[in-house]
Amino acid sequence: MIDFIQRWLPRKLRRPTPVPDALWRRTLAQHPFLSDLNALERECLRLLCAHFLMEKEFHGANGLVVSDAMALAIAAQACLPLLHMHGVSGEPVQDPRNLLDWYGDFVGIVVQPGAVVARRKTMDSAGVMHHYDEVIAGEAMDRGPLMLSWEDVAHAGERAQQGHNVVIHEFAHKMDMLGLRLGESPDGAPPLPTGFMGTRQRASAQQVWHQTMQAAYDRFREAVSRAERFGGEVPWLDDYAAKDPAEFFAVTCEAYFVNRERFAEEFPELMPLYDGFFRAARTLSA
Ligand SMILES: [Zn+2]
Repeated sequence: MIDFIQRWLPRKLRRPTPVPDALWRRTLAQHPFLSDLNALERECLRLLCAHFLMEKEFHGANGLVVSDAMALAIAAQACLPLLHMHGVSGEPVQDPRNLLDWYGDFVGIVVQPGAVVARRKTMDSAGVMHHYDEVIAGEAMDRGPLMLSWEDVAHAGERAQQGHNVVIHEFAHKMDMLGLRLGESPDGAPPLPTGFMGTRQRASAQQVWHQTMQAAYDRFREAVSRAERFGGEVPWLDDYAAKDPAEFFAVTCEAYFVNRERFAEEFPELMPLYDGFFRAARTLSA
C-alpha cells in the first residue's frame, strides 16, 4: 500500500525500501556478469533496483511464490542495461533513477515456474491462417505486462557462457517497443541517443543503426541456414535470433551484456553500435 502511494510521487521524493546488504551481495555473486561491475556501477544498480522493485508488481503464476531474492535477481538483470544509458528522449539524464522510464510503460511482471506454451497464429501470403504452439521462456507486450519463466531466470549464471539471458531479452524488447504507435511491431530499432556515434541528425543515426544491424542480421541468417542445410558450424547464439530483426536485437543484447568478450568476437560490427547505444553516457567509469 505504501508503495502504491509512493508511485504517485516524483522519483526523487520516493523512499523505496533499501536492498538488504546480504541479499545484494548474494545476488551479485550469483551472476558473473554483475560481479564485474565497478563500485560506482554497483551503487547505481542497487539504487535502480530499489526503485524498480517499488515501481513494479510481481505476480507468481501457477502457485509460484515470488520471494524477495527472486524479485531482486530479476530487477538487477533488468536494470543492468540501463547503467550507462541516455534518457528515453535521447538526452543524458541528470538523475539516474529516471533511466527507469525505459521500462515505464508497464507495472506487472508475471513469473511462471517454467516455460509456457503459447498458442500462436500467423497468416501466410495466400491469406490462410495457421495455428501453432510455441514454448516460451518470456514474453513482453507493448504497453502490457512482462512474463518470465523462473526456471530460466534462475539459471542465468550458468547460461551467461552461451550468451543467454531471458531477463535482458525481454527488457530489450521493452526498449525496442518504446515509441511504437499502437498496432506497430518492434523492429530492433530502439530510440537512439542524441549524437549517436558522431551523427548530427536523427535520420543519419537511424541509418547507421539500420545498415549495421541489417548486415549483421543477414550474416547471422546465412550462418544459420548454412548450418541447417549443409551441416556447417552451428552459430554460437540461439538461432531464434534469425526469426526477425526484433528477436535479433533482443538475443544479441543478451550476449552483449552477459558475455561481452565472446560477443565482440562473434559480432565485431555490433560492438561499437551497442556501445554507442548502451554506453552513450559514460558517467560511471571508475
Ligand atoms: Zn523475443
